[in-house]
Amino acid sequence: MYKPTLDYAQQLDKEDKIAHLRAQFHIPKDKDGNDWLYFTGNSLGLQPKQTQQYIQQELDDWAKYGVEGHFEARNPWMPYHEFLTNSMANIVGAKPLEVVVMNTLTTNLHLLMVSFYQPTKTKYKIVIESDAFPSDRYAVQSQLKFHGFDTEEGLIEWKPREGEELLRIEDLEKIVDDQGDEIALLLIGGVNYYTGQYLDIKRIAEIGHAKNCMVGIDLAHGAGNISPELHDSGVDFAAWCTYKYLNSGPGSLAGLFVHEKHAHNKELPRFAGWWNHNKETRFNMRKPFDVMPGAEGWQLSNPPILSMAAIRASLDMFEEVGMAALKAKSEKLTGYFEYLINQIDTDRIKIITPSNPKERGCQLSIQVQHADKSLHKKLTENNIITDWREPDVIRCAPVPMYNSFKDVYRMVEILKTLL
Ligand SMILES: *Cc1c(COP(=O)(O)O)cnc(C)c1O
Repeated sequence: MYKPTLDYAQQLDKEDKIAHLRAQFHIPKDKDGNDWLYFTGNSLGLQPKQTQQYIQQELDDWAKYGVEGHFEARNPWMPYHEFLTNSMANIVGAKPLEVVVMNTLTTNLHLLMVSFYQPTKTKYKIVIESDAFPSDRYAVQSQLKFHGFDTEEGLIEWKPREGEELLRIEDLEKIVDDQGDEIALLLIGGVNYYTGQYLDIKRIAEIGHAKNCMVGIDLAHGAGNISPELHDSGVDFAAWCTYKYLNSGPGSLAGLFVHEKHAHNKELPRFAGWWNHNKETRFNMRKPFDVMPGAEGWQLSNPPILSMAAIRASLDMFEEVGMAALKAKSEKLTGYFEYLINQIDTDRIKIITPSNPKERGCQLSIQVQHADKSLHKKLTENNIITDWREPDVIRCAPVPMYNSFKDVYRMVEILKTLL
């Protein structure tokens, strides 16, 4: 149904109902003023133009009110994180009670493991994907070590089969069937950062829970990209950063999800600070610690408002357009990208991301045989921004918010000439 021509790509852009969103972002340009072909929204999302006003508003109110801004600012800082909760909950398919924006991703994973990784002498192992993002691997290894376990022996890797790139759910099932009595936690990337594979997290939750294992999901590559329906999935917890598909700026704050079933469990071990203490008595500073229900009960500190303002600017755009419209465009855009790559007349290229749109988000991971990093360098010299992963994979994410069909068409035309 697709056609490999520029006319056709431009036709698709004309038919794209959310094409106007591109103009609401700053798109980096080359020295002649041409837009870069930016395919790394999976690494750092582009800046919405309105972000500046949102941050400026808080700078102005800080200048005007000083500490009184906590209550007097147009968007009072005291409850500021609450302004983000509903739209963030919509993005990941959760109830507002289950979601909070706080800290950074790896920090949140640790705080969640304080509560949900409760190893015993016999049930202490952690399952991760063999291609887990390094930070997640280091985080779980350090948790094992912290609890006095061996970081090799305590870590179980869910691996692709020999000669394959993708994970099979039945292999996880087998691991948990065989070793579930020793496994305390499954911590899995919902969308794998390397292959772009979107795993069935509901199934993962069922597999883990059948053997009394806790199940946590890292949604760094999922939030704003796929619709994970966290509440219905039944996973115990999840965390994600907001600077990738959620366009909130470098190093911005992260999201945290704790399933409703744990919302009122005050007995869960956790770290405390004044910000997870009951809001009603927080400033009556002499009260004993009284933890808040829901995800807010994992906060520790009063949050950085300037970073939250940037998240708010972005989430307001997501609210306006809705995940359904984004998903619809995303499937078509990535489908077109995949089609164009498959049209290239070479046997050097293989897309390792699943071809089923239900098993991926927007990212395609393209393996190029006999290529080395010089290919990535040449792409960059042509103003095509992609991400290179050794030994031979280009990760490329056409983002429905701001990438066009013409972007993917031009990218593949240039890739062809470079090969
Ligand atoms: C991007 C990413 C991270 C980064 O962690 P930070 O704490 O935000 O630096 C961690 N894990 C995964 C899976 C990621 O994709």
